[in-house]
Amino acid sequence: MGFLGNLWQSVKKDSASQGYSRMQGNGVWVFVQCTKCQEKIRLRLRRTDELQRSEEKGAGAFFVNKTIMGKQCFTRIDAHFQFDATYRILKEHSELKNGKLISEREFEQEQDGSAQ
Ligand SMILES: [Zn+2]
Repeated sequence: MGFLGNLWQSVKKDSASQGYSRMQGNGVWVFVQCTKCQEKIRLRLRRTDELQRSEEKGAGAFFVNKTIMGKQCFTRIDAHFQFDATYRILKEHSELKNGKLISEREFEQEQDGSAQ
């Protein structure tokens, strides 16, 4: 292990919250999963008018409150997303009711229904 082991550890730590959001143009993609029916939902948040600057100290730089509904069931997912100043989602500070955050990789997996 030694040096390489430590390096790998810090790389893993840094990427903990990466891949859970992706910036594209003036939007940020986030990925959620409905805990009732397991549907995976991709959501685009507009940086210009949906992301609000956070006033709270210690919290993220931006936040969005959003109610999400998938196509498979009528469960409303109440989401509170927090982002840092570079528009990366802060997974630990985000809260979802009836849903959870997933990474883009998780979103892309099993989209063809192979999980059934
Ligand atoms: Zn659902």
